[in-house]
Amino acid sequence: MTTEKTAKGLSLLSGGLDSQLAVCVLRAAGAYVEGVTFATPFFQPDSAKKAAAALDLPLHVVDFTDDEIALVENPPHGFGGAMNPCIDCHARMIARAGEMMTSLGFDFVSTGEVLNQRPMSQNKQSLGVVEKCSGLKGRLLRPLCAQLLEPTIPEQEGLIDRSKLLALSGRRREPQMALAAQFGLVDYPSPAGGCKLTEKGFGRRLKDLLDHEGLRERRLVELLNIARRFRLPGGTGVILGRDAKENRTLQERLAPSDTLVAPVSVPGPTAILPVVTSPADLDLAAAIVCAWSRYDQFQGDITVKVVANGVQTERTVPRPYAREPFLALQIL
Ligand code: SF4
Repeated sequence: MTTEKTAKGLSLLSGGLDSQLAVCVLRAAGAYVEGVTFATPFFQPDSAKKAAAALDLPLHVVDFTDDEIALVENPPHGFGGAMNPCIDCHARMIARAGEMMTSLGFDFVSTGEVLNQRPMSQNKQSLGVVEKCSGLKGRLLRPLCAQLLEPTIPEQEGLIDRSKLLALSGRRREPQMALAAQFGLVDYPSPAGGCKLTEKGFGRRLKDLLDHEGLRERRLVELLNIARRFRLPGGTGVILGRDAKENRTLQERLAPSDTLVAPVSVPGPTAILPVVTSPADLDLAAAIVCAWSRYDQFQGDITVKVVANGVQTERTVPRPYAREPFLALQIL
């Protein structure tokens, strides 16, 4: 049964198939839907924007960086296989959507979750935990599996026709593929992927930053997406460009408090050191820059520049140059 009032839903949109299907099912059930997606240095809203354009769906893009960093620093439910605080991240996204629901006058928040699609995070108990943690009890609608869950408030109030909602469960994707064809959805990314926090190598770089410089400086968090990383014996971190583009980015994003090291007598990488803890570490950083330079194409010792506190000095780093001694200091 539906009333004349049109239900207004704010649907979490990753751009993946299930999030797109949730929008289509809600629309078929008579709801007006807008999308919400989140952006951080760890994942971008590109897929969501593309899906929203294809669905002709108004989309809210929310900067989620501070929320995500707070969860990485202190995840109440711990991490997944890498530095991914998925349970808390998901609940926090829903909570943020809930805040928008209240302030923008929506009736409910929805997601594309399917019961038991992921055995740990999408069983009935986990879905209940997320609903409780997000503070959205009764206002969180999962249209793809709603018929297997307790009716939400908009369903109880007759704003949404429960009979038009679905009862999907389990890991099989065939029902979603059939629905995609039914709704004319042709372009959707694979359900997994896209979040750097789930990558173990990225997680190691993030943990290193968390343990040393900390995550409060957004610039350093964003720079985790590029360049090589070294942690020197004295605690100094080295961010070393891997190509001309990254060298340019590092120079552009240099902070006044950083130390920059780069070769001047041969082509080679730019390094930035957010904090230099000792002269010995600065010597090592200069040696690393030389070891990753084009020293083999030139004769003689390399001159490097060091820019610190706005003052540029030059120093000569004597041969030989080799990468091997530094490989154990690299964070891969
Ligand atoms: S994969 Fe990334 S974006 Fe998704 S819930 Fe986990 S931490 Fe959050």
